Amino acid sequence: MDPLISHCLRCGTCCRKGGPALHLADLPILQNGWLRPEQLITIRKGELAYSPKTGRAEPLKRELVKTANRSGEWACVFYDELRKECSIYQHRPLECRLLQCWAPEELMAVSGRDTLTRGDILGPDHPLLESMTQHERDCPCERLLELVASLQTGQPLPMAAAEHLAESIKKDLAFRSLAVQRFNLSLAMELFLFGRPFLKILAGHGLLVRENGHGLHLQWQD
Ligand code: SF4
Repeated sequence: MDPLISHCLRCGTCCRKGGPALHLADLPILQNGWLRPEQLITIRKGELAYSPKTGRAEPLKRELVKTANRSGEWACVFYDELRKECSIYQHRPLECRLLQCWAPEELMAVSGRDTLTRGDILGPDHPLLESMTQHERDCPCERLLELVASLQTGQPLPMAAAEHLAESIKKDLAFRSLAVQRFNLSLAMELFLFGRPFLKILAGHGLLVRENGHGLHLQWQD
């Protein structure tokens, strides 16, 4: 942080680093349609996320819902690169309203507190709630990533672990595929409802997955 900065320079750096996590205080902007579920992404319990408090990536103890990223980039989906501004500025989420990169105390004070879950956003009567809950039950992310964390990077994977990871990837993909067909889900809605596929999450942990004719083969990236 530059000690000479004392106000927002509209440099866009914070919006290019990714979108905010949503909090209970953001429910009204969802209820009024300024933010829609398909503009959000779920980071599931157990996934690594950057903690502004420790400055490190840490496993989440509770899921987070964030504004999605622009395709193939870290930047928040609402950041307008040409105009260098937020396209929902009047209705931007709490964390964006509190963020002052030169004085992060207010943001720190709410970080990780009163965050919204998918269930909060969908509401108790939503027709997709049951599918989301079933996926959470059948394809839990936290246990899978605990297994990955117990493996030695760069070493051959123990057979039992490799089989378990491959089965989990297939189960996750099969569940998504069925749900997409049944509910006619867009990719964006899938990412909100079920988070990122295990395949992508494991790649972020350094594990490459290939189809080799006998099934899925996992190995550490070089
Ligand atoms: S919602 Fe707006 S202010 Fe917040 S990160 Fe996205 S573009 Fe930036």
